[in-house]
Order: sequence, then C-alpha cells, then structure tokens
Amino acid sequence: MPDRTYPAHPDIEKVLLTGPQIQARIAELGAQISRDYAGRSLIMVSILKGSVIFLGDLMRAVSVDCSVDFIGLSSYSGAKSSGVVRLTLDLRENPEGKDILIVEDIVDTGLTIHYLMENLKTRGLRSLEVCTFLSKPECRKIEVPLKYVGFDIPNEFVVGFGLDYNEKFRNLPFVGVMRPNGGK
Ligand code: 5GP
Repeated sequence: MPDRTYPAHPDIEKVLLTGPQIQARIAELGAQISRDYAGRSLIMVSILKGSVIFLGDLMRAVSVDCSVDFIGLSSYSGAKSSGVVRLTLDLRENPEGKDILIVEDIVDTGLTIHYLMENLKTRGLRSLEVCTFLSKPECRKIEVPLKYVGFDIPNEFVVGFGLDYNEKFRNLPFVGVMRPNGGK
C-alpha cells in the first residue's frame, strides 16, 4: 500500500503511527492469531464503526478460516466519553459454541470492552478473546483481558485508520493527533 503519511492532513498536528508501521504490526498480529487458532475457525466480531479498517487488514493477515460479524456499541460523542455504553446493533449469527475474537479500534477506559465481554459471555461461546488495534493503558477504569494489542499509546485523543472525530478522519491511513480546532 502506498505510504500516504506525508504530507499529513492539514488538521493533523502530529503523526503517531505511520501506515507502514501499522501494516508491519498487523502482519505480526495476523501471524500470532493464525498460530493460536491453528486447526480451528474463528468469528471476528468487529465493533462498529471504528474497527472496520483494522478488521479489513487484520483478516487478510490471518490464514485460518474466519468469518466476520458486526456489533454496534456507542459510548462516545465527539472527543468526550459519556461513560454509558449502549448496544445499537446485535450480531446477525448466533455465536453459541463458536471461537469469538472481538476486534476493537481502541481500548481507553475499558468500559466498552468490559460491557461487550460480559454480554457475550452469557451466550455459551467456546472461547472469547480481544484484539485491539490501540490501547491507552493509563486511562483504564476497569481491567480487561486484552490478548492481542497492536500498539500501546499515550493518553491523547487520536484519529485516523478508522478512528474518527465527529465521523471525520476515518480514512487517514495513519494514526495522528489533531491540531487544536482541527476537524471543524
Ligand atoms: P472505552 O470504553 O474503552 O473508554 O472507549 C472505547 C471507545 O471510545 C472506542 O471504541 C472509541 O470509539 C472511543 N475512543 C476512545 N479513545 C479514543 C481516541 O483517542 N480517539 C477516538 N477517535 N476514539 C476514541
């Protein structure tokens, strides 16, 4: 994939992760997941909408059979957490007896993933793990078991590679921090 990191978007103050850095890490995660699930098949459960870009690349880096399903959760509006998690769309397929890998864009407080894990655990799964593209360990309000983490990042609001600010910037092929008043 061409590196569209530079020139960066005019609303972006700094780039935290370049496209090539992200792709190299996704290849490693894909190899690890393929080893861990060898001889099994898994369902990747992607949390809308932020994780879909990561999901697309991660799926193509995984060599075991895998299907995909989507779940809608909302906990944020703008750059501020409302602290309340809502289920806005449920899975299409019954996950009972299946190996489920939750694919998330970023784990911040942990409340969203905690809510989803508790919800899915009641559905008789064979196994449940999480693969998150980004994690902000300093921000955790609740401990959540994250088996696969792309990158630990500092406590900054980031956009790009699926992550938005008011629906903008999801298409940036890198992860960056906005300038003050960016995204207007
Ligand atoms: P948590 O429940 O772990 O606090 O938050 C998870 C959700 O908050 C993520 O799925 C994402 O939608 C949003 N979020 C948390 N931190 C960021 C960030 O730095 N940038 C963006 N764009 N979204 C974030």
